[in-house]
Amino acid sequence: MSQANPGRLTVLTGPSGVGKGTLVGRLLERHPEIWLSISATTRAPRSGEQDGVHYFFLNREAFEAQIAAGGFLEWAEFAGNLYGTPRQPVERQLEAGRPVLLEIELEGARQVRKSFAAGFQLFIKPPSLEELEARIRGRGTDSDEAIARRLQRARIELAAESEFDAALINGDLEVALGELEALMGL
Ligand code: ADP
Ligand code: 5GP
Repeated sequence: MSQANPGRLTVLTGPSGVGKGTLVGRLLERHPEIWLSISATTRAPRSGEQDGVHYFFLNREAFEAQIAAGGFLEWAEFAGNLYGTPRQPVERQLEAGRPVLLEIELEGARQVRKSFAAGFQLFIKPPSLEELEARIRGRGTDSDEAIARRLQRARIELAAESEFDAALINGDLEVALGELEALMGL
């Protein structure tokens, strides 16, 4: 970007169930100036999830057409579904000088690292794998098969922590929120 005062891009990554969505929700309540990217996905909506609010829910064909058109800043397959960040809104918000937040998985974070080298990449860790599993199960939204896939993927993601600019443990939510704010310079 060549703007005089481009907005800052922050990427938040961490295993499914670690509490990224919860942390981001609290962060946005406290800092409404932050713009959260809404991703596209081929995953089915969970109960309560709304199209255009939590995700843009696309079928595989529509998602692949958007890939072909270069419409994603990054995209990846996760636990059998496709997820991607629509490119244009992110670029517009950064051009407008707004802080932009992406909540995406590891492969997407790696892609963004290449195109936005100056972006800040933050990794969220669970206190333990047992606690992670308990949170995914406690959320009550995933089948046993989906839980198994997410936990398998979690091990891979946790091994990549050192690639990130910083990491924090989401143990106590309030403590983690404070650490997140401090790391983001808020
Ligand atoms: P993610 O977005 O990373 O997949 P969620 O935000 O959906 O994770 O959180 C997964 C589950 O863990 C939810 O039921 C949420 O209420 C719970 N949770 C989130 N943060 C904490 C925390 N710090 N302590 C205990 N439970 C948490
Ligand atoms: P969930 O199905 O639990 O909403 O999300 C599964 C995983 O996909 C999470 O790790 C989440 O961060 C990631 N994710 C959500 N949106 C995107 C996206 O646009 N791109 C990528 N690469 N990952 C995403």
